[in-house]
Amino acid sequence: MAEQTQEVPIQLAADYLVVGAGAMGMAFVDEILTSDAAATVVLVDRYAGPGGHWRRSYPFVSLHQPAAFYGVNSETLGRGGKSLASGVEVIGYFQRVLEKHIASGRLSFYPHCEHTHAKEFTSSVTGAHYSVAVKRKLVDATYMKVEVPSMRKPPYRVAHGVKVVPPNALADISSPYAGYVVVGAGKTGMDAVLYLLGLGLNPDLITWIMPNDAWLLDRGNLHPDGLLQTLGKQQESMARSESLEALLLNLEADGMLMRIDESVWAEKYRCATVNRQELEQLRRIKNVVRSGRVVSIEDSQVILEQASLNVAKQTLFVDCSANGLSNRPIVPVFAPDKITLQSVSMCQQVFSAALIAYVETAFTDVDMQNDLCRVVPHPESIDDYLYAVRVGAINNASWGKHLPKWVRNARLSFRSHIPTWRLFSKMPKMAKLAPLVNKNLQAMTQQREAQKAAAK
Ligand SMILES: Cc1cc2nc3c(=O)[nH]c(=O)nc-3n(C[C@H](O)[C@H](O)[C@H](O)COP(=O)(O)OP(=O)(O)OC[C@H]3O[C@@H](n4cnc5c(N)ncnc54)[C@H](O)[C@@H]3O)c2cc1C
Repeated sequence: MAEQTQEVPIQLAADYLVVGAGAMGMAFVDEILTSDAAATVVLVDRYAGPGGHWRRSYPFVSLHQPAAFYGVNSETLGRGGKSLASGVEVIGYFQRVLEKHIASGRLSFYPHCEHTHAKEFTSSVTGAHYSVAVKRKLVDATYMKVEVPSMRKPPYRVAHGVKVVPPNALADISSPYAGYVVVGAGKTGMDAVLYLLGLGLNPDLITWIMPNDAWLLDRGNLHPDGLLQTLGKQQESMARSESLEALLLNLEADGMLMRIDESVWAEKYRCATVNRQELEQLRRIKNVVRSGRVVSIEDSQVILEQASLNVAKQTLFVDCSANGLSNRPIVPVFAPDKITLQSVSMCQQVFSAALIAYVETAFTDVDMQNDLCRVVPHPESIDDYLYAVRVGAINNASWGKHLPKWVRNARLSFRSHIPTWRLFSKMPKMAKLAPLVNKNLQAMTQQREAQKAAAK
């Protein structure tokens, strides 16, 4: 890298310019360098190293799903089975993967660099300006716009003197507060509550602001050995459900989905994942406030959309209101000179990025590539979940037809964790249920559209 500001851009050349060294950028780069033994990549990130949002998350963050199918295809992560990996482990892992590929001579990494436009980027440290002669494609690995609380200010007014912190600051608490208010009930809010309870805090000292209730995935079903059973159970629930509401309740009755409070209907579905023990802990919080989002936090009062709440002075507010992953508009993954990384399998972003890289190397026709990579945006609502299930099923069927070997062998793919003999033993039943499942999912979609039209 250049040591000082340069007027004339430094010229680089590579097959791919990948912007973003987060989980998706890394999974893409790893697969493209593995599947195409001659490909070269310039990888750029504004951070000091790879890992994206993991570098900004709270110190007690961990994967929500097993490490067995997270990361990149060419290197295992974690201890296998049900085990997760901490955020620190994930960052170290991506650093090792990066170094391995740099050592091959086909990857160049430019940290602390801001992508400015098209094929150019600038170092935030030296000011050096780079221009890349991209022989194949520009890859946008920033499109998911992941946002964790420490990356921005709370989106509500905070009166002078009130202490509002991101969950990162919980690790630095050095004296007790009169009370703790956790703002937000997504996975980050759950992690903050679990962390405080894990420190032995009396649950009555915690108030949890829960603007929405969500369906939660039971992590107990997501380990490699249980995947086939989970997929089978889901399919059976779909085959016997004639409305979306019935499907969600059936999945709950079958132990697939959970709610913090089973007496409150949940309109959200964001793939938040906890185990049963964590759910029991979360249910210990009795001061749950369901009165909308926070509008402002005053001296001893929280103003919410539908109510206000008195709080003691010396309360610590933990802002967990950032969305993490959001439901981004769909854009085609493949264009003649550009790839925009998005999810093509519900909540399996790294698998999606690796699959897109493989499709890039194995197919040349852009329409065919996009046909194999229909976008499954990150779900927010139960309707998004229904959409994701339907499009995910179409994608799965195309992959079975056009890239079965890759899907069978890629460690990021669920399929690779299911022994073929076990899959074959379940196939007759699954094939028999498939037409009924499709019919029910289609009927549910039509019902929901009619309900929405009638409500307008
Ligand atoms: C707390 C948390 C836990 C998760 N746990 C799991 C899990 O258990 N299993 C699972 O499958 N998924 C999990 N996910 C999802 C997954 O890890 C990633 O969040 C998802 O794949 C999105 O990552 P990304 O690479 O798209 O985004 P990011 O991590 O945001 O990476 C984007 C990168 O682009 C860089 N960038 C952006 N703009 C520019 C620019 N103009 N110039 C240069 N660089 C730029 C950023 O610095 C960043 O490094 C989790 C997500 C969160 C938030």
